[in-house]
Amino acid sequence: MIEEDKSHVGMENCFFCGKEKGIMLDKRLQNTLPRNAVYNKEPCDTCKNVMELGVLFIAVRDGESGDNPYRTGQIVGVKEEAVSGFINDKKLLADILKKRICFVEETVLKHIGLLKKDGSLKYKKDAEELNKKVSIANKLK
Ligand SMILES: [Zn+2]
Repeated sequence: MIEEDKSHVGMENCFFCGKEKGIMLDKRLQNTLPRNAVYNKEPCDTCKNVMELGVLFIAVRDGESGDNPYRTGQIVGVKEEAVSGFINDKKLLADILKKRICFVEETVLKHIGLLKKDGSLKYKKDAEELNKKVSIANKLK
């Protein structure tokens, strides 16, 4: 892995969508900060808005699980009413509606119909970039 250039300023990114949500500054102006990184699991304003109306479904690579699964880059916001339309398990539904964030395997999202068969989505993110930002954060913890 190539060591990234560090600086005394860096961007803070959203854990869920990868969007830039603020600027970090090293107190002693040392070059310690990566250009982009996730520092906490606080959603950005955009994600927060989606979570107020419904659930954020984040596609992950098939077979991935845990706190920080490998994201494939697709993120879909689904209104609360619509979520109950494709999740029949009452307990699971209650869980999802409570958490408002759901990591789902890409294949499952295709089955539900939230992704096209080819896995594409109009606003698909660059998966490499997104996962790089998140993995940097994990090292800092
Ligand atoms: Zn976000």
